[in-house]
Amino acid sequence: MICTGGHPSGRRLAKSLGHSIIQPVPSLFSFSTSENSLRSCSGITLDVQIKLTVNKKKYAGEGPILITHKGFSGPVILRLSAFSARTLYTNNYRGELRINWLCMNEDEARFKLDVYKLGNGKKLVFNNKPFDSLPRSLWKAIVLSLNIDTQKKWADISKFEKDSLVKCLIMKTYLINSRGPFGEEFVTAGGVSLKEIDFKTMESKICKGVFFAGEVLDIDGVTGGFNFQHCWTSGWVAGQSVVL
Ligand SMILES: Cc1cc2nc3c(=O)[nH]c(=O)nc-3n(C[C@H](O)[C@H](O)[C@H](O)COP(=O)(O)OP(=O)(O)OC[C@H]3O[C@@H](n4cnc5c(N)ncnc54)[C@H](O)[C@@H]3O)c2cc1C
Repeated sequence: MICTGGHPSGRRLAKSLGHSIIQPVPSLFSFSTSENSLRSCSGITLDVQIKLTVNKKKYAGEGPILITHKGFSGPVILRLSAFSARTLYTNNYRGELRINWLCMNEDEARFKLDVYKLGNGKKLVFNNKPFDSLPRSLWKAIVLSLNIDTQKKWADISKFEKDSLVKCLIMKTYLINSRGPFGEEFVTAGGVSLKEIDFKTMESKICKGVFFAGEVLDIDGVTGGFNFQHCWTSGWVAGQSVVL
C-alpha cells in the first residue's frame, strides 16, 4: 500500500509502476503581498468579502480573513487558495486581491459615513470610526494609507478624502506576489490519477496488488476536515481490501 501523503517518494514509486501523476501543486496556503500599509494590523481577523483575479480568472469568497505580517490568511483565503491553486501556480503566485472590509455596497458605506460625519463633526477622523465591526487599528491603517491628516476633524473631511475612504474600505486591491513559505501549505493538489484507482477497494487498475490511500492521490479538499476525512476513509477501505 502506498500512503506517503504529499511526499514525492510515493508519487515516484507510483510512476515507476506505470501510474499517471497529475502535477502536484500546493493548496491551502496564505497569500503574501508587498503592500505594507497593513503591517500594524497583523493578527487581526474579521469577516470580509474578497475577489481574487489571477490572469483574468476570477474567484470570490466571503468569511474570516487573518491579516498576517506578510499578507493574508484565515479560512476565506485558504479556501480561495484551494480553488485557485493551479491558476496561481501557473501565474507564479501573482494576482489581485480585492477586499471589501465592510461587506457593504458602496451606497451603504457612503451613507454610513455621511451620517457619522453629520453627528460627529468635532471628532478626529483618525480616532473615530463610523463602522463598529471594523477593528480600530485597521481603520487607523487605512486612514494613514490615504494620507489623511491625523488631526483632521470629521467636519473638515473633503469629498475626495471621503470618496477615497469609501473606495479603500469596500474595494481596495492588494497585489499578491507570492504564497506563504514553502512547506507551510496544508495539502498537495494533484498526485496519482483517480482514473487508475478502483474506489471500491483503492486498488490500482494498472498494477494489481498495489493499493493507494490518502494525499498521494489526486484528491484535495478545502479546509474543514475534508482532507482528513478522505485520508481516513481511503485508508480504511484500502486497509480492508489489502487483507482480503
Ligand atoms: C499544518 C497542516 C494543517 C492541516 N490541517 C488540516 C485540517 O484542519 N483539516 C484537514 O482535513 N486536513 C488538514 N491538513 C491536511 C492533512 O493533514 C493531510 O491531508 C493528511 O494528514 C494526509 O494524510 P496521509 O495519511 O495521506 O499522509 P501523511 O499524514 O502525510 O502520512 C504519510 C506518512 O508516510 C511517511 N512517508 C512518506 N514517504 C515515505 C517513504 N518513502 N517511506 C516510508 N514512509 C514514508 C511520512 O513520514 C508520513 O508518516 C493539514 C496539513 C498540514 C500540514
